[in-house]
Amino acid sequence: MKTFSIGGVHPADSKISAGCKIEVLPAPKTVYISMAQHLGGPAKAVVAAGDKVKAGQVIGEPTGFISAYVHSSVSGTVKSVGLRKDIVGIPVVHVEIEVEGDEWADGIDTSDTLVTAIPDDAKFIVDRIKNNGVVGLGGATFPTNVKLCPPPDKKAEVLILNGAECEPYLTSDYRIMIEKSKQIVVGAALMKKVLGVQRVVIGIEENKPEAIKSMTAAVNELAALSADYSGIEVQTLKKKYPQGGEKQLIDAIMRRQVKSMGLPIDVGAVVQNVATSLAVYDAVQKNKPLVDNTITVTGECFPKQSNLLVRVGTPISYIIDSLGGVPADAVKVISGGPMMGKAISNLDAATLKGTSSLLFLTEAQTRRKPETNCIRCGKCAEACPMGLEPFLLNKLARNGMMDELEQNAVQDCIECGCCLYTCPANIPLLDTIRIAKGEVIRIIRSRTAPKK
Ligand code: SF4
Ligand code: SF4
Repeated sequence: MKTFSIGGVHPADSKISAGCKIEVLPAPKTVYISMAQHLGGPAKAVVAAGDKVKAGQVIGEPTGFISAYVHSSVSGTVKSVGLRKDIVGIPVVHVEIEVEGDEWADGIDTSDTLVTAIPDDAKFIVDRIKNNGVVGLGGATFPTNVKLCPPPDKKAEVLILNGAECEPYLTSDYRIMIEKSKQIVVGAALMKKVLGVQRVVIGIEENKPEAIKSMTAAVNELAALSADYSGIEVQTLKKKYPQGGEKQLIDAIMRRQVKSMGLPIDVGAVVQNVATSLAVYDAVQKNKPLVDNTITVTGECFPKQSNLLVRVGTPISYIIDSLGGVPADAVKVISGGPMMGKAISNLDAATLKGTSSLLFLTEAQTRRKPETNCIRCGKCAEACPMGLEPFLLNKLARNGMMDELEQNAVQDCIECGCCLYTCPANIPLLDTIRIAKGEVIRIIRSRTAPKK
């Protein structure tokens, strides 16, 4: 069984919400839709207070090549357009909409009917993906239409669908692979058409046998239907964190290494998450914009494990209240998983297209042990999936040695947290390395930026 070749760790799965089927969470009374929920330039709001909107209607337009459309997730009246704090307390422009009924914009198919015919015109597919605001749902939220159109000097050979979901606790991808497997495979065939590749590999870790079974059945059923579905396969991967990292998945499946500061397309790969593939299906086959997504709500201290289909812009506090409120012993809520997620400091913040999970942790689960001196055991270097030397990067970062940090490739850190996870001296390696990486990337960009 394949896996990536460098480093990695084996944290406990903790997939305690895996058995929870996706339930639709009713829309709240008010949604707050951020104009900055994708990588690149924030969208520009194109509605004003007093406007009536329908679900699926454009409310934000892209502001550059790397940017994305934003749509209303509900029907109702725009109450305001202005700054509101995101999950970490940073003010971002949001459109506030008071919900009235559930009326959808014309031309959107909200039925469950499966549409399997793949359009011939690749441009039509890309335009629908762009116009319906699809962004990568594996964490980066990079606009999908841009990723599917590599520069002319780069050629895609393989499309990899990321179904690894290697972060502990998260099960939203697992549930869609069971409950929406055919739609995901149709999405894969649509992206295969755009990229002009012959091969699509859906990588799923061995600890998800039900998802492997369901996705394999969908691949076989659709392959029997049309040649558009040929060359799509499911590959079972050995469980290891962070298998879902793009570079790790490419190594595991293609045995190719992406160079420092390189991109997957440099080695002929395009990686998309299974949730993105589902969004591509909705966008192209149903003309439905990305206005809802599946979110895992979990944690040992949380009484009602759930996977919920949530309208984008739903206040996090509304989701929590719908499930019985914050547990008395929870001290921290994380957006995402425990390894790479972000602590939420503002429960009034609204969900984004890329929100995958709300994880509740107790004091005992979050308590950091006291830091001691590095014992030069080398465990952090052994665990690093990017082949870095975290103990050295930490030392250089603490001494502000930017040139040396760049020479030792701090910019390649994928912030996976494997080093922190393994360190017996409890040194906050990830925290120092992350800050240093940000600074080094800023220096590299300022050096390579065109002179004015
Ligand atoms: S956080 Fe960065 S330095 Fe630490 S193990 Fe992951 S890639 Fe390596
Ligand atoms: S794991 Fe911790 S103690 Fe061991 S070498 Fe790395 S920084 Fe030092």
